[in-house]
Amino acid sequence: MSIHEECGVFGVFSKKKINASDLTYYGLFSLQHRGQESCGIVVNDDGLFVSHKDLGLVTEVMTKDVMQKFPLGKMAVGHCRYGTTGGNDRANCQPIEVNHKKGRLAIAHNGNISNAILIRDKLEEDGAIFHTTSDTETIAYLVTRHRLESSSIEEAILKSVEELEGAFSICFMSPTKLIAVRDPHGFRPLCYGTFENDGEEVYVVSSESCALEAVGAKFVRDIKPGEMVVFSNDGVKSYEDLCGSKEISSCIFENIYFARPDSVIDGLSVHESRYKAGRILAKEFPAQADLVVGVPDSGLDAALGYAHESSIPYGIGLIKNKYIGRTFIAPASDGRSRLVRMKLAPVESAIKGKSIVLIDDSIVRGTTSKEIIDMLRQAGASQIHMRISAPPFLNPCYYGTDIDSRDNLIAVSHTVEGICQIIGADSLGFLPVESLPQLTGAKGICAACFTGQYPTPIHDGNRKDRFDKRLSEKE
Ligand code: SF4
Repeated sequence: MSIHEECGVFGVFSKKKINASDLTYYGLFSLQHRGQESCGIVVNDDGLFVSHKDLGLVTEVMTKDVMQKFPLGKMAVGHCRYGTTGGNDRANCQPIEVNHKKGRLAIAHNGNISNAILIRDKLEEDGAIFHTTSDTETIAYLVTRHRLESSSIEEAILKSVEELEGAFSICFMSPTKLIAVRDPHGFRPLCYGTFENDGEEVYVVSSESCALEAVGAKFVRDIKPGEMVVFSNDGVKSYEDLCGSKEISSCIFENIYFARPDSVIDGLSVHESRYKAGRILAKEFPAQADLVVGVPDSGLDAALGYAHESSIPYGIGLIKNKYIGRTFIAPASDGRSRLVRMKLAPVESAIKGKSIVLIDDSIVRGTTSKEIIDMLRQAGASQIHMRISAPPFLNPCYYGTDIDSRDNLIAVSHTVEGICQIIGADSLGFLPVESLPQLTGAKGICAACFTGQYPTPIHDGNRKDRFDKRLSEKE
């Protein structure tokens, strides 16, 4: 699996000074699966912003020395990032901070704005100068511009989001407010929780509920699609139906792969979604086998579902190296085979001589699946029936993941039988696209990378490659 989520966002609001940087550190550490290229924290010390951001994992960037330099503060925002638009240089690290005529603002954003290039072009024609290539700077520009003629930061944000299309789950921090906003389609998750400190409620905003648990906060609720929630000394205030009502299009791939299985998104457990996918696969694509094996980590929950539905025993047939991050890079000469074998190892005693149902969350190019199957055969598996807990990828994603080229997707140019042959499986079955709504219950989903039905207009020129091309043309 080589698809990456773009980002995780986290924010803290307290009426009294608190160790907001430590809370944000723990929050980001729990959201590390959403982005491992860079991270950052901005603490609000009575209106003065103190920040640190850099390339690297949370534990690498936020060293003991760095953490000790943060003051206590009533608020903080944090961000961890995998760059899908804008590359992975230091300038694109978040949160982005801006000083403007009426104050300052820090912004942590998850998602991709599908009309960002159009907005950026317009702003540049009006004299704006951009310092980074990320969508988030475009949002920062819009908000600070609107702030000049608005009576409050809330009003400026409301005016700005009217202009945005695509995916945005954002934590804004002004000198006195923490503001959480989720786009009207609800592509990316965002929720908040609370805990008591010294007799006062402390509010915590997070991309996923797993990070609330990590700081001892109780989940309150998801930020609704098209909602802005403002945390200030006046309490918690909600503004709904931003940008008018739109069809909910929550990213189904959050449930299949991106999110942590212990998170709950829009009221539904991610573990449950994956477990259901496994059960559906067992009904749709039964197999004669001795053992069901999941590819760690995101194939495990679906493997359990398949095993329960089929009554084939569930077993641990693959072990993941715990010390390998998603950013591990093998020396070029060693190639993909070594990379897969550094990440995963077969448990020979469990699989030797057995017919196996192997469950993974997706197939992109097919190279990783082929390596895993080769490895299991070498360890003595007699048959391998591969089942995928997602439909075949056929289209790019414009909403914050790096599924960005049809050329890289094996299912675009091969039939299921053809893919089965290439990866060397005895049989292959993908989750039927019609069954996706069952994974999340009644809520609306985005499944555009499988169906090609995009919930927002896709403008010419909003692709990452076009963005990069446009930048190089200007140089
Ligand atoms: Fe998620 Fe796919 Fe929609 Fe992107 S296109 S938001 S990955 S379901």
